[in-house]
Amino acid sequence: MPSERPRMMSGMKASGALHLGNWMGALSNWVRLQQDYDCFFMVADWHALTTGYHHTSDLPRRISAMVVDWLAAGLDPERAVIFVQSSVPLHAELSLLLGMVTPLGWLERVPSYKEILRELEQRDIHTYGFLGYPVLQSADILLYRASAVPVGQDQVPHVEMTREVARRFNGLYGPVLTEPDALLTESKVLPGLDGRKMSKSYGNTISLGESNQETVAKIRSMVTDPARVRRHDPGHPEICPVFGLHRVFSADSRVSNIETGCRAGTLGCVDCKAELASTLTAVLEPIRSARQSWVDHPERVDEILEQGARRAQEAGRHTMEAVRDAMHLTRVRTPDAI
Ligand code: SF4
Repeated sequence: MPSERPRMMSGMKASGALHLGNWMGALSNWVRLQQDYDCFFMVADWHALTTGYHHTSDLPRRISAMVVDWLAAGLDPERAVIFVQSSVPLHAELSLLLGMVTPLGWLERVPSYKEILRELEQRDIHTYGFLGYPVLQSADILLYRASAVPVGQDQVPHVEMTREVARRFNGLYGPVLTEPDALLTESKVLPGLDGRKMSKSYGNTISLGESNQETVAKIRSMVTDPARVRRHDPGHPEICPVFGLHRVFSADSRVSNIETGCRAGTLGCVDCKAELASTLTAVLEPIRSARQSWVDHPERVDEILEQGARRAQEAGRHTMEAVRDAMHLTRVRTPDAI
């Protein structure tokens, strides 16, 4: 039975175990969106190759670790299609065909293209695959005729690119592809242990799957306001990453008491960190215990991904038949058609 709910599609690069920043940035939104949307959640392993083709031996482990975190955080395989991109080869076929109609200039003008080249200048990613990743991303979305793509404000241009690719295809071959809308979701950017944005590449994360002891030790080592040399020195919570995390995870009344105590020099950093550690370990407890049950049963994770691949393949098959028909790529059936 086709679902009456609008369809949404989203994915994450296969980067391994997730951290608090990933959870608050995208995953918690996905969990909520399952209520109202027919959801497709994809582990983008091919996308991981666009910037990391050099080292692929770790990919299977990274995929499993990420899916375990998704499930532990509340993605529900009964309500959402959870799958790995490379298990649905139709993504590659549609990407190839869309690549035929996508002007090179569009790709070179994607804002993140030059930015990532600069950020990762030590890696050689001047490749056809990296330049073309927005086409693959468009194929990921258009294959499922998704009407919505949940994104933060900074990713709206990616959805706009997909809309342009769909418009160009439809203009050339007829109305086959659905132009998706960006579904703007609130995503919180968390400070990491060192005050920079929480990110695996900075090595400043708190992982969903680490032990409570590790979390406590990491919080103890966090940088704070350097003006607080002695316990009674007045502090500036607005520049302290510990306070940044309190603001997201602690109750409003506690946040305001912490702010007052820090400014007045009546709250010490050791106590402030201990409170954050206990808040965070309590918040993460349900995820950590659910996670363990998935870790103990990897065969259940494999089953979910296999079932997800079948459902995704079936959903994508209809789009690809229409695309091939529209482009006159349907297999020749009668000799007199030659
Ligand atoms: S009291 Fe808390 S908010 Fe203030 S500087 Fe210390 S750790 Fe940061």
